[in-house]
Amino acid sequence: MEPNNQVPFLVRVLSLFPEMFPGPLGYSLAGKALNDGVWALETVDIRAFARDKHRSVDDTPFGGGPGMVMRADVIDAAIRASGLAGEGGPLIYLTPRGRVLDQALARRLAGEGGMTILCGRFEGVDERVLECHAPLEVSIGDVVLSGGEPAAMVLIDAVVRLLPGVMGCRESLEEESFERGLLEYPHYTRPRDWMGRAVPEVLLSGHHEQVAVWRQAQAEAVTRERRQDLWARYIAAGMKQKVSDDEHH
Ligand code: SAM
Repeated sequence: MEPNNQVPFLVRVLSLFPEMFPGPLGYSLAGKALNDGVWALETVDIRAFARDKHRSVDDTPFGGGPGMVMRADVIDAAIRASGLAGEGGPLIYLTPRGRVLDQALARRLAGEGGMTILCGRFEGVDERVLECHAPLEVSIGDVVLSGGEPAAMVLIDAVVRLLPGVMGCRESLEEESFERGLLEYPHYTRPRDWMGRAVPEVLLSGHHEQVAVWRQAQAEAVTRERRQDLWARYIAAGMKQKVSDDEHH
């Protein structure tokens, strides 16, 4: 293997459960890239910054109500110790209230030198620490997880696979769902006939242009059927492109 001279993309994770990492990120593409030094992982144990003798990191919410809230002073100390936000990429707080993660955001983050990820637990963190450090707030979808760690793994996986040298074939990245505003076309492999189901004839034709046309039509059909939101954006972007092309001619 060629020596890897690139500076690793540094991922710092602030968590009450640092031992969860790298976990699934130690396998397959992300795991290999971690071993090859394409990215590096540092975990910060938030509990190490607790000051009282019980090492408490959370407390009851002012105003009452259920659950516990992570203390601003403890989180602040952990953030400062991990190197302040802005150095080596953005500080990200994972929360259902954040901007929903998508491929465009993953691509933007992959263009940074790294990222520092704060994982919440309980009801989340004291609002004042968010005001103070102004992290980029990211959600992995409209669903509530029990902690930020699984969300961090999703985010890291999505970003790491976009780093240079991680995916062998750039083309397979370009054709993937969301990259061109569409979901991906269906895939087939051997056996040619399976349980009486044949592979679409065009894919066996060896005709690259026809295959490309078929795949584009399939990608459009599945997007129109399943994701009205993406489809509307795709159509609008196409119209905009057409207007600008017409203006240039
Ligand atoms: N009380 C919060 C609310 O209703 O928005 C939910 C807190 S959740 C039980 C605990 C932690 O899990 C959050 O602080 C956050 O770090 C993480 N988490 C939960 N759902 C998430 C999501 N959809 N995206 C990102 N992080 C999430």
